[in-house]
Amino acid sequence: MISSLRTFFLLNAFFFLVSANAQKEAYTSDPVVSDTSFVNLKEYSKDFVYDMKYATEDNFLKAKVYDCAECLLRLKTVQALVAANIDFMKKGYKIKLYDCYRPLSIQKKMWEIVSNPSYVADPKKGSIHNRGGAVDISLVDANGIEVEMGTSFDFFGFQASHNYTKLPKKVLANRKYLKEVMIKNGFNSFDSEWWHYNLKTGLKDKVSNQKWDCN
Ligand SMILES: [Zn+2]
Repeated sequence: MISSLRTFFLLNAFFFLVSANAQKEAYTSDPVVSDTSFVNLKEYSKDFVYDMKYATEDNFLKAKVYDCAECLLRLKTVQALVAANIDFMKKGYKIKLYDCYRPLSIQKKMWEIVSNPSYVADPKKGSIHNRGGAVDISLVDANGIEVEMGTSFDFFGFQASHNYTKLPKKVLANRKYLKEVMIKNGFNSFDSEWWHYNLKTGLKDKVSNQKWDCN
């Protein structure tokens, strides 16, 4: 009898602790951050390599159009991207980022220079970049060297297409590997650009023109 009473109290104490912990978790999760909130990738993972081309003059606009090299995305895009990066890291690779969320005003500048929807989305419709659901990426190996993808980022020619197969086997394998892991983690590829990926659940989110805080 005593031993069963003791078991009863011990069990009660155990359930009290479990429910107290569950409550604590509920209180500490941030109620403001919904999965469509814009967040900064670096707050969620330190395992990405950054080469944000539009924060430099090394891009097809030949102008530095971002004040700083931050990668903002909707929270759900960040979560899918972090999961993809974990998959890549298991094989010794990491995602290198060229572009993330892009304010609509920058999309307009891009469209003025390249008015071809195969390469730049018409700002009237808006790009998935303007919705916080697209990333332009490549992979780096364990030494931080970018794997061969056949063309540079923002190469506006058919050689950048997933459908172009007259490339070295290694390049085709690298593109295929990038695509497979991204698709497995909730992204769609884009036929004419090997570097561009859209979060499947992000296609209908609102276009934004908000700028990020560089401080
Ligand atoms: Zn893109």
